[in-house]
Amino acid sequence: MKELRLILGDQLNINHSWFTEVDSQIVYLMMEVKSEATRSPIHAQKLLGTFAAMRYFSAQLVERGHQVEYLKIDESDNQQSFSGNLEHQCQYHSAHSFFWQEPDSHYVDRELSRFLKNSGLPGGSVSSEHFYEERDSLELFMEKKKSWRMESWYRHLRVKHDVLMSDAKPLGGGWNFDKENRKSWRGEPRPDAFVRPSHDHSQLWDEIVHSGIATFGNPSADNFQWPISREESLAQLESFCETNLRHFGDYQDAMSVKHETLFHSLLSFSLNTKLISPKEVVDRVIGGLTEDFENIASIEGFTRQILGWREYIRGIYWAKMPEYLTSNEFSFTRKLPKWYWTGEVGMNCLSVTIKQSLSTGYAHHIQRLMIVGNFSLLAGLNPHDVHLWYLGIYIDALEWVEAPNTIGMSQYADGGVLATKPYVSSSAYIDRMSDYCKGCRYSRKEKNNEKSCPFDTLYWDFLSSQRKTFDKNPRMAMMLKNLDRKPDEERVAISSHAKLLREGIEQL
Ligand SMILES: Cc1cc2nc3c(=O)[nH]c(=O)nc-3n(C[C@H](O)[C@H](O)[C@H](O)COP(=O)(O)OP(=O)(O)OC[C@H]3O[C@@H](n4cnc5c(N)ncnc54)[C@H](O)[C@@H]3O)c2cc1C
Ligand code: SF4
Repeated sequence: MKELRLILGDQLNINHSWFTEVDSQIVYLMMEVKSEATRSPIHAQKLLGTFAAMRYFSAQLVERGHQVEYLKIDESDNQQSFSGNLEHQCQYHSAHSFFWQEPDSHYVDRELSRFLKNSGLPGGSVSSEHFYEERDSLELFMEKKKSWRMESWYRHLRVKHDVLMSDAKPLGGGWNFDKENRKSWRGEPRPDAFVRPSHDHSQLWDEIVHSGIATFGNPSADNFQWPISREESLAQLESFCETNLRHFGDYQDAMSVKHETLFHSLLSFSLNTKLISPKEVVDRVIGGLTEDFENIASIEGFTRQILGWREYIRGIYWAKMPEYLTSNEFSFTRKLPKWYWTGEVGMNCLSVTIKQSLSTGYAHHIQRLMIVGNFSLLAGLNPHDVHLWYLGIYIDALEWVEAPNTIGMSQYADGGVLATKPYVSSSAYIDRMSDYCKGCRYSRKEKNNEKSCPFDTLYWDFLSSQRKTFDKNPRMAMMLKNLDRKPDEERVAISSHAKLLREGIEQL
């Protein structure tokens, strides 16, 4: 008779208190299952990275003396679902109890609770010991507040966890140095090539192909560059802090054809699989603060992403699920064009971003928000389909963090729970923050014709057609004022050209 403990594929926290002592009466269960791998079309690198990291983690546990039952994707007794395998394994090990770490996904949470109830076994969940806050902390904090803004939550956490604070005041004289964080990048300074791993996962790739799971994107099986262990993740964190962190603040919104990742950390996969914790990342980053706070803008900007945004997004997810996934404020129903899966589109900004995403499983925040997300919203794509696309393509995409970012922040489909206004722009923003427009078939100088930039027509048409929704939103006042300045003939031209663009979306 054994105690069965489940470790999910995104719970690779070797410092969890579960592992402090070896106990021969405990069996740890890990499984690669098709029910998870086929929820949405999935990027090959996402599957490879997850399975490789899980296998490495399981080997580490075994090395430390723990008993691990690991079900590989192509094993004959793998039932290919959580509950199927749990039933089988509970019987096999004559389990007298069943425990798991709190899942980050709502549906897995439900599935495991249901399984426990049906099995009649004693057991339950324990904390995953990863986040700063509990699942419901944000909801409790926002209980009496009119709107759920990230800024008040972030400041609350800065004080509560004593991060970048001194005598109850923010270090460096401000909570936020955002104004210093909005530069475009014109080739200088050059990002340093910081330490990234390289793996040959060809054998694992063969197993995945053999299992019949359909994937897309470049597997890069013989030169896989994402960290799959805690050691590799820490090495990457260290290298990032020593090199590109110093320019993170200045260029976090910049995009360029000359450099895909610029000054970003590429740590989201390591964080989301819990190979490293948000606290150790924030502590390491803040450890580099100079005495005169000269680098505070980058350090605060980076801290805000993790202590602020990441914890806030998680709180939104748990407060608003499961209804959140089907939010559709504008009732948009258009299907994703086929080129979302190939990048073969004449709009250079989209082509570069999608091809990069297919090739690496990565695009940085502004590419996700202001290129693909911006276009998806302006074109009226179905937000649930957009969500599934993001969930499949990015190496770091797990529902709890991807869905609020996509459905809320980028598509405004939640009607403004998360964002005070939709993140939409014309080509002016894209041209200011990138060099994409120079190599584009479309021109920013033309207006509402077959040569003109589709972003411009679609932007004005979106504002015009959704005007009633935004009339009372003070953050939209300037955009609407600019719309009102347009003469009637131009508005007619915008509306008819936008219709053509949406109907001809496959040919863009
Ligand atoms: C439409 C859309 C979808 C997104 N989907 C995901 C997703 O599936 N998984 C995911 O981890 N992030 C997602 N993000 C947030 C952000 O784009 C990624 O966290 C970031 O690009 C990861 O790259 P990085 O590690 O180089 O980040 P950096 O720019 O170096 O930032 C450091 C860390 O801050 C955290 N962070 C930054 N912004 C956010 C945010 N908005 N929400 C949560 N954490 C944040 C991440 O953990 C990230 O690793 C999405 C953003 C948008 C607009
Ligand atoms: S001109 Fe328009 S479509 Fe082309 S890259 Fe610029 S913003 Fe994108």
